[in-house]
Amino acid sequence: MKLTFCGAAKNVTGSNYLLESGSTKILIDCGLNQGSEFCDDLNYEKFPYEPEEITAVIITHAHIDHIGKLPKLVKEGFKGTIYSTYPTRDFAESMLLDTAHVLFEEAEKKGRPPLYDIRDIEKTMLLWQCRDYHEDLDIGPFSVELYDAGHVLGSASVLMRVENKKIVFSGDLGNAPAPFLKETEYPQGADFVLIESAYGDRLHEHLNERKKLLEETVKRAIGSGGVLMIPAFALERTQEMLFELNELMEKNSLPKVPVFVDSPLAIKLTEVYEKYSENPMYFNDKVIGLIKSGEDIFNFPGLRMTLTKDESKAINEVPPPKVVIAGAGMSNGGRILHHEMRYLPDPKSTLLIVGYQSVNSLGRKLLEGEKEISIFGEEIKVKAKVAFISGYSAHADQKQLLKWAASVGKDSKRVFIVQGEENSADALRNKIKTELYLNAEIPSLNETVLL
Ligand SMILES: [Zn+2]
Repeated sequence: MKLTFCGAAKNVTGSNYLLESGSTKILIDCGLNQGSEFCDDLNYEKFPYEPEEITAVIITHAHIDHIGKLPKLVKEGFKGTIYSTYPTRDFAESMLLDTAHVLFEEAEKKGRPPLYDIRDIEKTMLLWQCRDYHEDLDIGPFSVELYDAGHVLGSASVLMRVENKKIVFSGDLGNAPAPFLKETEYPQGADFVLIESAYGDRLHEHLNERKKLLEETVKRAIGSGGVLMIPAFALERTQEMLFELNELMEKNSLPKVPVFVDSPLAIKLTEVYEKYSENPMYFNDKVIGLIKSGEDIFNFPGLRMTLTKDESKAINEVPPPKVVIAGAGMSNGGRILHHEMRYLPDPKSTLLIVGYQSVNSLGRKLLEGEKEISIFGEEIKVKAKVAFISGYSAHADQKQLLKWAASVGKDSKRVFIVQGEENSADALRNKIKTELYLNAEIPSLNETVLL
């Protein structure tokens, strides 16, 4: 078989791998490159293969850096089948529509055609078929099995058998124990392994104390009578926050104050979480027990979902203390900016950062303590408190990646380190070589290997 690294080589985003045996060509993921903006030049480049020759695409999970180029693939001639778990399909539709909107706006500003439009997304969704974890799936000579990656709801690692060999694609791996997901699964017997390395050089802190830290921060913020703003990614982080706040409300740890989810995308995605919330395939035993006892795990008295612009603006009329969860997760767009503009100058308010903030994002500037920032061209003085909890990352850290590699790759001939910046890929490769004695390498973009 032949494997080509068509994306996410020495880079976190743009996950895209081509696996060929005979005339069957399968892609694993077809993600967007996410630099400082979506309409990055890289996304406009021709695919390094002919889209009409691709038999199928297997999608590991619904983050845009894993699915965001699917409508472009369809637009350029792909007519095969797209496979994923059921939640991934449902998330993908909302995620792609949201992205199309951003792509359109960015392209208009730059005076270039958008990468794709809503009609391409509609065509993409018609090609989609779903499989549960461990359900049989044969594509030509390949037999495929999806394993729970524990990263976001419905996320999968992919085990493929062909030519009497086994190859495993990790997808993105989770940071177990996640509040409501099941543990990451470890496919066995791989001859070849691709492992993500987003956090290949880092260890998460505060994993055990994260909930206590959240409780203390929310209590302190509410107690000071201001507004607690939580910028959160729409997929998984928002629902994690709701899940944790729900538990704290249930045990009466928190004063009853209004909590707003002010993100149309997060609201739609939360509906998908609710759709699958009774399925023991996707949620851990503790959560299934809670749901069976009648608990609504993402909902509590005082929670309001503000879908429309008018509803969003009406949040201003509600007197503090109040909590607002909104996108974008790195304060680089979305409705959170309106709240930050209004409440960052207020010394009684708090900004709570619970996710990764990339260099140059507004979130990173705030995290680093900048006291004067600019939003929509206006200078804003930051007098609100800025708090940070790191334990809610959805990615495995170096220790968890090594544990996965030690189990999945123990009989492997080659381990390929992907989906990480060069530094973190390099750090993980060295650890895998020196501690696990495995043959680890970092492939280059568009490199092809015969396996
Ligand atoms: Zn991901």
